[in-house]
Amino acid sequence: MQRNTIRKLLDIPAYKVVGVDCREEDIHVWLKPYKRNRAVCSGCGKVHAQGYHSTKEVIVRDLSLGKRRTYLHVLKRMCRCIEDDRLHVEEIGWLKLWSRVTKRYGEEIYRLTSITTNKEAGWFLGMDDEVVYRIDRDILEEKAAEKLDPIPSALNISVDEVSYLKYHRYLTNVIDTDRKLVIWNAKGRKAEVLDRYYNGVGEEACKKMESVALDGARTYISSTGRHAVNALIVYDKFHVFQKLNNTVDAVRKDELQKAKKNGDDQTVELTNCRQRFVLLKNKSKLTEKQDQHLKTLCQINEPIYKAMLLKEDFLQVYAQENIEQAKEHLKNWIEQAAASSLKAFQALAISFSDKAQYILNWFIKRISSAISEGFNNKIKRLKRMAYGYRDVEYFKLKIHQHCGLLNPRLAT
Ligand SMILES: [Zn+2]
Repeated sequence: MQRNTIRKLLDIPAYKVVGVDCREEDIHVWLKPYKRNRAVCSGCGKVHAQGYHSTKEVIVRDLSLGKRRTYLHVLKRMCRCIEDDRLHVEEIGWLKLWSRVTKRYGEEIYRLTSITTNKEAGWFLGMDDEVVYRIDRDILEEKAAEKLDPIPSALNISVDEVSYLKYHRYLTNVIDTDRKLVIWNAKGRKAEVLDRYYNGVGEEACKKMESVALDGARTYISSTGRHAVNALIVYDKFHVFQKLNNTVDAVRKDELQKAKKNGDDQTVELTNCRQRFVLLKNKSKLTEKQDQHLKTLCQINEPIYKAMLLKEDFLQVYAQENIEQAKEHLKNWIEQAAASSLKAFQALAISFSDKAQYILNWFIKRISSAISEGFNNKIKRLKRMAYGYRDVEYFKLKIHQHCGLLNPRLAT
């Protein structure tokens, strides 16, 4: 009776329960295949007429029954394969060949690791995080083979780099901006890296591409120009702002250095690293205190005042009604920045002048900066979750799991 109930609860077809040991924290169930369930040889995938050679027991973790961790002792049959005359263990549909967990339990782990760290998942499941890592990686690899091969193409994409480890190692990510999902990634950020994506999806798919948003990197621009010949290249607004903010920050750092040298304590206090957000934040989002802080800073420090004016003025490019007006505004801004005494802004003027067309293309295809921003935030979060980044292949898969096609929440 008890065995029958447990067999129903487990719901594993063609196996009978031959033993149950219910302990305080866990439950062990011994399973044996019914005779009519013929062993499939894992060597060749066939059922051999002469039956099986011997049996062995493997212990695998399954979904918990009630509060108890469940372990299945599965009797596996060994077949002598007529193809290669070697002994092979049988193939079982609900169990991967060498796995220590059932497929359905693997799925459970995979859902958990898509929302939390392996360490926490391990704690929750009562499993070593190294084991969670191995299972997770294994499942991700399998799903990647299923969903990321052949390389998915898209009409509108965004190309974004993310750093991993320290010392500036990068991954290139391709995002489908319509579906807001990462569809491809690879190590490095050279033109050849992105070439691999375009070559992977093929000439036809490249020709169909309508827009490519990118971070202004020359390498990505040149690769895109060569492959996605009909696509509009847009310098992503999010990255334009990032570049602008970095330039403001460069001015702040210069002024901080100078102030330190001159013993100007007030400026040091107002420009130190902790205060940098006052300069980088959107002006309308400053608190009253921050606003006051900014006003004082602008009063006592001319370069920062100038930098802030240039920043505010640049933002007006995007507020223009049409591309012609924006072009005019941008042109004037570049002249001003180039003529300013700020080295960082002079450099930015050259860079933006070079890429003016891509900045202005935003008026033709208004790709939301929220896509890049959202992606960058997710990556930051993923990095904080501190996976084994030494394993870059795993990190690539984790990006797909958290931001792309391998996300379990996408599945119906
Ligand atoms: Zn065989």
